[in-house]
Amino acid sequence: MQYTETYSKVLKWRGGTARRLLRDSVLRLKSMSSNVDKKFKGIQFLYFHYIYDDEMKNAEKIIQWIAENFKVISYSEAIQRLLDDNIDDYYICFSSDDGLKSNMIASKIFKKYNISCCFFINPATIENRELAYQNKICTERLGIPLTDFLTWEDVGTLLAEGHEIGNHSYDHQILGDLNEDEFEEDLKKSTKILKEKIGEVKHFAFPRGQFNFFKAAYKKMTHAHGYTSCATAERGCHIALDTPISLNELSVRRDVVVFKEPLAFVKYFMQKSQQTSSTKNSYWIDNQ
Ligand SMILES: [Zn+2]
Repeated sequence: MQYTETYSKVLKWRGGTARRLLRDSVLRLKSMSSNVDKKFKGIQFLYFHYIYDDEMKNAEKIIQWIAENFKVISYSEAIQRLLDDNIDDYYICFSSDDGLKSNMIASKIFKKYNISCCFFINPATIENRELAYQNKICTERLGIPLTDFLTWEDVGTLLAEGHEIGNHSYDHQILGDLNEDEFEEDLKKSTKILKEKIGEVKHFAFPRGQFNFFKAAYKKMTHAHGYTSCATAERGCHIALDTPISLNELSVRRDVVVFKEPLAFVKYFMQKSQQTSSTKNSYWIDNQ
């Protein structure tokens, strides 16, 4: 078994080529005239999972464009601004899920542009480096062929380079499928390990990210266990609210970035998030 080095191989492994090409050509057309409004007031969270070898150049192009055109703030600052309803400009905030090894490449690029990112990790995949285990997690839970993960040493380096580390659950199960006791046990276990290894952990992002893979009651439990924020992977950005929002109410939205895709796609989704922005975006939505 060998680690996957390129995103082309990931796509080949996933299959569904015809559907993807169709989606890409539609997006290519739609994104031709995209224009992100720099005067917009809001907070846009962008998150990614990996930077494979054939994505590095484009990843830098995208990150550079964002750094040169917008105010990029740290995860903790973005959360504080949401809680204080202090949204006086257009802010971008980066995070990453799954704790893959290529976060170290991301960190190198971020360093050039003075960007702080929040990396959401699963303690289990940092602790257990057996190939068979990594392969199982990658293929069954992350939807990618075998790919390497961070080590605790890497996590220390990320922190030393000014990034934040968040909790992405113990081992990337679908948390909404767990009963309350099982979920709390997962949360306690992952929190304990992260605290022992890195001291403090303030932010939580649940695996898969859509509302229906988690529960509003579980989101509240993360705060009862000390977390300052809980992130989804639902698209959309945040705008100023009419009434102040509490910690328990605040639900963070993030737009995914695939670095192999054209910068125009990133612009398209950012513009779409601006155009569809609503105060409702900051609240949990139960779609059951
Ligand atoms: Zn994940």
